[in-house]
Amino acid sequence: MVEQDCIFCRIASGDIPAGRVYEDDQCIAFRDTNPQAPVHLLVIPREHVESLDDVGLKDEPMLGHLMRIASRIANDQGLAENGYRTVINTGASAGQSVFHLHVHVLGGRPLSWPPG
Ligand code: 5GP
Ligand code: ZN
Repeated sequence: MVEQDCIFCRIASGDIPAGRVYEDDQCIAFRDTNPQAPVHLLVIPREHVESLDDVGLKDEPMLGHLMRIASRIANDQGLAENGYRTVINTGASAGQSVFHLHVHVLGGRPLSWPPG
């Protein structure tokens, strides 16, 4: 389902440009417009799913695919040697601002823990 008022659906459909680094039939990956690290990418499913909390049994292969592609693009961007972080914010209190499931891939600097 493509939701016309969803910014990530519009990026996935090509309606809105984004700095794409990877795409296939299930997902696309692109650069975050407000990067929180030297490398900050987002991996999203083409299908509109609001959040991790809306992922059902039928979505398990898609979720696995997103995580595998996250690691692949992290490697492609040269992040593997020093490490990288994958983050899924779920719900507004956890920092989710775009309600289309996405995996953040962050790296290129030391990352502190715990997150804020
Ligand atoms: P969230 O806060 O939902 O976990 O992450 C949403 C991310 O999407 C934020 O890091 C934000 O900078 C990024 N973002 C929001 N709108 C756009 C956009 O139009 N294009 C791109 N490339 N990133 C966006
Ligand atoms: Zn969407």
